[in-house]
Amino acid sequence: MRVEVDGIGVAVPEGASLLTAARASGAELPTLCHDDRMSPAGSCRTCLVWADGSIAAACVTPAADGARIETATDYLRELRRDAVELIASALPPRALAADGSELADVCRSLGIGSEAARGVGGRGEDTSHPYVHLDRDLCIACGRCVRMCSEVQGTFALTLVGRGADTVVAPGTGGPWAESDCVSCGGCVDTCPTGAITEPGPARGLTSAHHEAARTTRTTCGYCGVGCSLDVAAEEGRVTAVLPARDGPVNRGHACVKGRFAHGFLTSPGRLTQPLLRRDGRLEPVGWDEALDHIARGLRQAVATGGPDAVAAISSARATNEENYLVQKFLRVVIGTNNVDNCSRLCHSPSAAGLTASFGFPGGTNSFDDVERADCVLVVGANPVEAHPVVGARLLQRALHGARLIVADPRAVGLATHADVHLRPRPGTNVALCHGLARVLLAERLTDEAFLRERAAGLPEFTELLADYPPDRVADITGVPAADLVAAARLYGRAERPAIVYGLGVTEHLHGTDGVRALANLAILRGAVGTGRGCGLYPLRGQNNVQGASDMGALPDTLPGYGKVTDPAVRSRAEDVWGARVPVGPGLRIPQMFAAARAGELRALWVIGEDVCATDPDTNRVAEALRVCPLVICNELFLSETARHSDVVLPVASWLEKDGTFVNFDRRFQRVRAAVAPPGQARTDFETVHAVAAAMGVDLGCPTPAAALDECGRLAPVFAGLSHAGLDREGAIPWPCPEADQPGEATLYTERFATADGRAHLASCPYLPPGERADDDYPLIMVTGRRLTHYNSGSMTRRTANLLLESADWLDVHPDDADRYGLREGEPVTVESRHGEARLLARVSGEVNPGQVFCAFHFPANGVNRLTSGHADTVTSCPEYKVTAVRVTPRRTQHDAAADAR
Ligand code: SF4
Repeated sequence: MRVEVDGIGVAVPEGASLLTAARASGAELPTLCHDDRMSPAGSCRTCLVWADGSIAAACVTPAADGARIETATDYLRELRRDAVELIASALPPRALAADGSELADVCRSLGIGSEAARGVGGRGEDTSHPYVHLDRDLCIACGRCVRMCSEVQGTFALTLVGRGADTVVAPGTGGPWAESDCVSCGGCVDTCPTGAITEPGPARGLTSAHHEAARTTRTTCGYCGVGCSLDVAAEEGRVTAVLPARDGPVNRGHACVKGRFAHGFLTSPGRLTQPLLRRDGRLEPVGWDEALDHIARGLRQAVATGGPDAVAAISSARATNEENYLVQKFLRVVIGTNNVDNCSRLCHSPSAAGLTASFGFPGGTNSFDDVERADCVLVVGANPVEAHPVVGARLLQRALHGARLIVADPRAVGLATHADVHLRPRPGTNVALCHGLARVLLAERLTDEAFLRERAAGLPEFTELLADYPPDRVADITGVPAADLVAAARLYGRAERPAIVYGLGVTEHLHGTDGVRALANLAILRGAVGTGRGCGLYPLRGQNNVQGASDMGALPDTLPGYGKVTDPAVRSRAEDVWGARVPVGPGLRIPQMFAAARAGELRALWVIGEDVCATDPDTNRVAEALRVCPLVICNELFLSETARHSDVVLPVASWLEKDGTFVNFDRRFQRVRAAVAPPGQARTDFETVHAVAAAMGVDLGCPTPAAALDECGRLAPVFAGLSHAGLDREGAIPWPCPEADQPGEATLYTERFATADGRAHLASCPYLPPGERADDDYPLIMVTGRRLTHYNSGSMTRRTANLLLESADWLDVHPDDADRYGLREGEPVTVESRHGEARLLARVSGEVNPGQVFCAFHFPANGVNRLTSGHADTVTSCPEYKVTAVRVTPRRTQHDAAADAR
């Protein structure tokens, strides 16, 4: 469609607004109530234009083909000036001088001086929230914050209250902001055009639309696996603000309380700034040379005593791809062992195994952008609203815009409250649930028969298996009413473009790989993967670079790009690039490393950026392994539990202090750039690995992160087209990307699956019960997971003002169980399992089912992971975090007990 703007012809898409057309021509219009991230409101009347002889608000008026638009007449300027003067007249003069105020800029552009602001103010402030301050006197009631909260974030926490000139934004719950439903995403701060809502401190006045004056660095969030693009402002070596990038491919100008605000840990007094070496049982500060010398001697001694396989490393999903690449290269080339693993072992290794077996590649099948066209989303074992908030917000918007939503999760949280059907299976029964859904799809002929015939394998065996999963039996196993199961199957089966999003509630089970495969079965039956129709499967990765750490070969059985170490051709390609022999046999997985240490077989362990003593299951046994291992090296930001158990602690840079790339949950490579330098003597993990190799007399090559990614591409054909230069140019590139001039494959398998026979494989895996069950001694099933405000062991978020938002780990208990076991809201409780004991605070909540409790593990001192068992996925060794039998007892003081007795 073509329109003419001020005499300039421009092409715009069908349905485009006059504002879009005006901008396409280069015309600048003030837009006080408008933000491209939300629907237009047309309330401020500052974007008035002439359109075919009529005055129109450009933001809300669609352009007609052939329309003639004028934007710059004197009359329009007068109208705009009148509109803005009216707005300004109710404000105090300081409103027109506020930093970062769009209103002040518009006033200046229209020649409106501060004398126009004649308001007296006095409406007061709300400074109750650590990150969001409201100055009511500057509010013009444009409603941008309210729409941001509803249309982008989906929390509906804000509203406009009052009448006429007294209208002002307020939390919908009334009362102070800090006690409202606000989830602290910062969306309102970022869109407010007047500075009425701001982040306090040096970030005041900086928004994603208004940060030109500050020096910003584009990087990728280092918290969860969503991969939000962020612009980081810094002054004098300190981060002053983190802003969501409006052109971020996944976040599109949005973020969450972690990525947006939780950067205070950078300057925490607890940051490690100097290497530490254990002497006489105590960790003492030493110089790098001494620490490196100790490590090199210790590693040599371990190899001399027990051979190369007496050394192992746990690489990090928090580290960059290039760092992970270098770690695995160090282990294989310098030490000569495949004993390298990463924390995907503890979260999404079943995804890698299951997706590979079903489809061929160990990653999600589609770009998350495809979800925008999904008409039905099945969310299983995930609470993205808290654990992957930007994805959660986008999914919620999809549901609010008409997609049907099925949630399968034991808890009634997040998206479940918006679901068409909420299935609440007993923890550990996902496989039976999926088979029940599959059986209904088959029985009601809701399958894609052509797809199954031409592109899938295993249907006869699977059909036979499903005979054992009629809805009534599945209802018995899972606790999900048969009618709900059928309703969910029909929604998924009748959708034109269904998508499946899942999380750790699927993978962290004794049969987690089967759970992934059972989910994949649904997409295959429906022909919803590898076709233009369905939207495939999305594993929601927990840590920021858990996909990338595995992609880079920080795994005991695969080299970069997932070639098997047992495959001579794969080894030979690596040997050609590295000029060194690659060990033949698969190395140890993380739990096997700890077992080998306890057995005296592992003599040196390097733990890079993981607090295994806090986050791994059965942590008492992990700590025992570290105690008996002769050399434990730890790269850390803080003196974590793992660092306390180490012999050498190396201070390292955080994600805001280093250079490289991360891979997010939908396989996008994105750049990570240093916004500030690391403190003191801290170095990047990349530099650390090089330094240890050098101390052992080996030059690992690839001296820079860019060179490391280039070298990785020479080993791994799926990454051959990736480079820092390409990513700097394109922003994000999904893998596979075999050629430098290709955009990468966002949607996989459009022609054939990457399995040996090119087909998708249905898995005939029977349902098998979880490793733990409730009994008389341990009558409750505990599920662990994440809360919104904190991240994993909390080592970063607990050192920020996020602690003011959530100051403890809570144990959610159903009211019936609270009555039965004498537990009271807010009171301390003891949680015991067969493996250990933890101390938490009770929260009585209908979000959990009777017989189940839920808690996070963000405050390791509580000991939650002392409770979890040693059971693990039978295929990948991923721990069964989601099913632990526990008992809960009140932990009252003597005073309480005496009061009770009275
Ligand atoms: Fe985005 Fe996740 Fe970072 Fe939040 S934590 S800003 S959702 S990447």
